[in-house]
Amino acid sequence: MTYRAPVSETLFFLEHCTGLNDIAGKGEQADLSLDLVQSVLEEAGKFASERLAPLNRKADQIGSKLVDGKVVTPPGWKEAYQDWIAAGWNGLGAPVEYGGQGLPVMVNMAAFEFLSSAAMSFGLCPLLTFGAVDALEAHGSEALKKTYLAKLVSGEWNGTMQLTEPQAGSDLANLRTKAVKQSDGTYKISGTKIFITYGEHDMTENIVHLVLARLPDAPAGTKGISLFLVPKFMVNADGSLGKRNDVRCQSLEHKLGIHASPTCVMVYGDEGGATGYIVGEENKGLACMFTMMNNARLGVGVQGVAIAERATQQALQYSRDRKQGRAPGAKETSPIGDHPDVKRMLMTMRALTNASRAICLRTASALDRAHNAGDPAAAKIAHDEASLLTPVAKSFSTDAGIEAASIGVQVHGGMGFIEETGAAQHMRDARIAAIYEGTNGIQAIDLITRKIGLNGGETLRRVMAEYRNTASEVAKSNDPAFGKTAQRLNETIDALERATKYMLDALNRDQAEALAGATPYQKLFGLAAGGSYLAQAALAERVGGAPASRVAVARFFAENLCTQAEGLESTITEGAASVAQSDAALVA
Ligand SMILES: Cc1cc2nc3c(=O)[nH]c(=O)nc-3n(C[C@H](O)[C@H](O)[C@H](O)COP(=O)(O)OP(=O)(O)OC[C@H]3O[C@@H](n4cnc5c(N)ncnc54)[C@H](O)[C@@H]3O)c2cc1C
Repeated sequence: MTYRAPVSETLFFLEHCTGLNDIAGKGEQADLSLDLVQSVLEEAGKFASERLAPLNRKADQIGSKLVDGKVVTPPGWKEAYQDWIAAGWNGLGAPVEYGGQGLPVMVNMAAFEFLSSAAMSFGLCPLLTFGAVDALEAHGSEALKKTYLAKLVSGEWNGTMQLTEPQAGSDLANLRTKAVKQSDGTYKISGTKIFITYGEHDMTENIVHLVLARLPDAPAGTKGISLFLVPKFMVNADGSLGKRNDVRCQSLEHKLGIHASPTCVMVYGDEGGATGYIVGEENKGLACMFTMMNNARLGVGVQGVAIAERATQQALQYSRDRKQGRAPGAKETSPIGDHPDVKRMLMTMRALTNASRAICLRTASALDRAHNAGDPAAAKIAHDEASLLTPVAKSFSTDAGIEAASIGVQVHGGMGFIEETGAAQHMRDARIAAIYEGTNGIQAIDLITRKIGLNGGETLRRVMAEYRNTASEVAKSNDPAFGKTAQRLNETIDALERATKYMLDALNRDQAEALAGATPYQKLFGLAAGGSYLAQAALAERVGGAPASRVAVARFFAENLCTQAEGLESTITEGAASVAQSDAALVA
């Protein structure tokens, strides 16, 4: 099945709903223009659809394999990666100082969506490198930056992120990997990391591992974690590669999806310890890793968008080709896409996809505003908005990816369950995104315990005021094509306001009560955000006088999905007691 990158849809949203024009032409973005963004996205779309998408299915079937201690990626992967870096895609959003193109996060994330739609497993390699670049740029010593950043930005070397250990997944306080300081200022790292994406492979000549470990005298828990850079091959003073470091891939996991992405068990210290360099300060590693993780969380959200888009395109195509039964009013057998129930499925997929894209691009644009703001107060406001939206972007979009991919299988009927259509692969691939980079449950806890109360709740109030304003603008338009969009949006925002008040009270009263409602709260937030951003795009479309597809999507989202808001509110405010009572029922 072919894939066509949604360039004009993305460009429209960037132009009208992200403030791209406010940063273009100024400061670091002096050379940025809408025309430039358009040509970047068109080229990225071409690379994704023509170069990568054709590799996706074979790569899924063959997967990455461990052969004599070396990881062999699927046919075509290495060559595609070389083309990816040769065209400069790896450095699209990276700092100019280190050879990147310094384009806004929102443009990089838009291009990353196309890449991930084409082959999600492939996109993971650059995604983790982007994170390594961010962490090193923010926290690395000048010496580390000088040695590693340009190679990571170009993609000649890739970056990995190594937190997880068998006993330390969501709870990094249990981390045991050891780091011992040496007289020359380096550290010897030993221990085992599991589930490491692209921990070993054959696409780059060196791999730069960012590893969380604990010093012997470190305080217990997360306050005693440090971050280290551990190269696969040592780098000589002249930049050439030296001897192999004491780190190896012991095995690869067999997984439900993303088969082409090698998920490695990494062993450090067979020969006394791998040489590592501290990033940031001792015992402050988690904060440094969070620089990497926040952006990676947004990137994982974008993977959700990407899978949802690919599944939607595929289902749409199938619904036009496959004929069964007669749709109401039809005289002959109809394409299944004419049946109202199938239309509903297709529109649900489209609405979830576009809403997730909108939430992710708005989160990215807040990061861009923070970076490009003239004064520190404006930068802080934008930064806090990005912090608030990040868990919503990650969770809503990855859940949307799973839901859209699952509906995509349903649209295909029995053929959806058969691997050769490709619909099943999307569903298998989509599933991981709700789990890694902090499960969606952990995102929900972050949202309610750290984000909604930011600045005494001011950040949330600001965001909700924007949503409310959008609903008012829809109402003021008096356009019958919007149907009940304004009313449903207002009801959703009302529900979110009441649920927020309940949450903040519950957090003070009884943590368990608040935590029981965290995931439905996060979902409710996503409905308010997605509904509002879609409505903003629809309002911009009406001004432009273009065909009303965005109005139709915004209306569908409001009238068919935002209707869940009041149910979610009840679950949040009334469901905790039954969760507390559940022990008797949950007998293994
Ligand atoms: C394919 C793949 C690739 C990965 N890539 C990487 C990588 O590159 N680098 C890396 O470091 N890790 C990676 N991971 C690991 C991934 O980030 C973890 O699997 C994830 O963070 C969850 O940890 P866990 O598996 O230990 O689950 P657990 O922490 O055991 O969680 C199990 C369940 O309990 C819930 N839970 C746990 N704690 C709480 C709590 N306090 N409150 C409420 N609910 C809770 C979770 O939400 C989840 O539903 C990868 C994993 C996979 C499968």
